[in-house]
Amino acid sequence: MDIDSHAGELASDLGVEKQEVVADLKTLLEYDVPLNEAKQSLRRKYGGTSGGTSPTATSIGDITTTDSSVTITGRVLTLGTRTIMYNGEERTISEGEIADETGVISYTAWDTFGFEVGDTITIGNAGVREWDGEPQLNLNENTSVTTESESLSVPYEIGGERSLVDLEPGDRGVVVEVTVIECEQRTIDGRSGPTDILSGVLGDDTTRLPFTDWDVHPEIEPGASVRLDDCYVREHRGVPSVNVSEFTTVELLDRSVAVTETAPTMAIGTAITEGSTFDVELHGTVIDVRDGSGLIQRCPECNRVIQNGQCRSHGAVSGVDDLRVKAIFDDGTGTATVVLGRELTERVYGGTIEDARDQARDAMDKDVVTTTIAEEIVGFEHRVRGSLSVDEYGATLDATEFEPITDDPTDRARTLLAEVDG
Ligand SMILES: [Zn+2]
Repeated sequence: MDIDSHAGELASDLGVEKQEVVADLKTLLEYDVPLNEAKQSLRRKYGGTSGGTSPTATSIGDITTTDSSVTITGRVLTLGTRTIMYNGEERTISEGEIADETGVISYTAWDTFGFEVGDTITIGNAGVREWDGEPQLNLNENTSVTTESESLSVPYEIGGERSLVDLEPGDRGVVVEVTVIECEQRTIDGRSGPTDILSGVLGDDTTRLPFTDWDVHPEIEPGASVRLDDCYVREHRGVPSVNVSEFTTVELLDRSVAVTETAPTMAIGTAITEGSTFDVELHGTVIDVRDGSGLIQRCPECNRVIQNGQCRSHGAVSGVDDLRVKAIFDDGTGTATVVLGRELTERVYGGTIEDARDQARDAMDKDVVTTTIAEEIVGFEHRVRGSLSVDEYGATLDATEFEPITDDPTDRARTLLAEVDG
């Protein structure tokens, strides 16, 4: 919008002559007053005579998705910054939550309004839009923000400090103190060509969650305890994922953040109802080993499992041997497919991938490897821990731990002794 249109809008909002507003606005801009501030000043100047469409002040708890615009006074609880693509352009936006005594509402600011976490502000003429059935504030070029000198006391936590277990997709301006459990660097096709990113797993004393760092901070490396200030949370394979960006402050902590040793144990039926969980423990019985278990081959390009040397995406390829198990796991309340990677499969098989190759060659049949694995686990109770994803095809658990549950006292004693002996 040019000055004329801004002035026109302002004039009709305030119910005054446009020419007057144009002159005032031009003067303020000549003195390098930022546009938003200039418009706010004029609103204050002409505010008393307002017969226009400026909304009257309302309580946050009263805002509904049928409101088109509102004016509120509230305390800024969180403030996060990130860039998004908007009409083919990269734009930096601020997002977070603001509250008064009556409720909390999310906001998106399309401009820099200069407020900070903890500030009490009056937001004039904010747009209201619907997101996931809830009203959200849209702070745009028609919105004014003024900082109040008296701070509003609100029954909500001010600031983005959170435990990992409390994070939910959509959270902005989050601050966490965590230990990096896993971390690897890889190259992806970004908005502007190949981009290096970090991805892995973070932990604190409540749980573990996956993360992505879009701006490769060197402080983030396995074993490091860090404070991540201004992250946002997105859903990744059904679970919350912590996103670190160029706007995140990464600070190496001089203390070690303890990571929970255990995952919550759930009944399979409950776990399926609750949906995907990044770290969970299930107890049940292996009732079958599915096709595609044992000695398998993967495409060297995309890592997908291939049949007869043919990849669905890359055609005829020279496959790479791998070992895995897809086990049907049942506890009476539900069924999940448990996937064991190479390392856990070697353990239940009782040999390495070379041993499996030898066994298959001697028998001239690679199914003997699957049969050996099935004999070891089918019909036996196991404890399995890992990342559970639930979708329309059912529940699949990617195992990080898998071990038999034994009620035999001799075995228990032996396990205990082994632990004591280290
Ligand atoms: Zn492939």
